Amino acid sequence: MLAKNSRLAAHNRAWFAERSIVTINLMSSPGAGKTSLLERTIRDNGAGRQVAVVEGDQETVFDAERIRDAGARAVQINTGAGCHLDATMVRSGLDALDPDRGDLVFLENVGNLVCPALFDLGELRKVVVISVTEGDDKPLKYPHMFAAADLVVVNKTDLLPYVDFDVDRCERDARSINPGVGWLPVSTRTGENLDAWYAWLQEL
Ligand code: MG
Ligand code: ZN
Repeated sequence: MLAKNSRLAAHNRAWFAERSIVTINLMSSPGAGKTSLLERTIRDNGAGRQVAVVEGDQETVFDAERIRDAGARAVQINTGAGCHLDATMVRSGLDALDPDRGDLVFLENVGNLVCPALFDLGELRKVVVISVTEGDDKPLKYPHMFAAADLVVVNKTDLLPYVDFDVDRCERDARSINPGVGWLPVSTRTGENLDAWYAWLQEL
């Protein structure tokens, strides 16, 4: 199953490259703020280029509607009982999305820190969003996700005064698994440090 997925992901990757499309596989547990990060990025034009989104959720079209309201093209994929996006689902999403040449395409994965790490979608970069309300033990509990990530976005930093979340310890744990991983604390609510996120996107 994974070998077949890898072949289809390679297909997606070539398709993106031919069109100069940059893709990010955005992963997190449910409620960490993936969609909020995308809404804010779209409204601020933080990517510096047109954004389009493939939304993965088990049910509902809520997130695709939020992305469209923010001003970008979006398609919703419902995985039903499935707990991750795979390369085939992304392919069918792209057929409906029809992104333009040079777009930044976000693949917002199903909220889950386990198996999305195993399925290559053909993306250029993997970004993991964690939030300070979910505890600072996630890197050690879900090492495969953090080993696969290019960047960790730590969201909801505006709530740090109200929770026991040790940002430094969490960063140390993430880097013990993946020494080169990027680390970016932000608040999508207050906008704190989003400039650094936008700078990262614009360098892709
Ligand atoms: Mg979402
Ligand atoms: Zn899964």
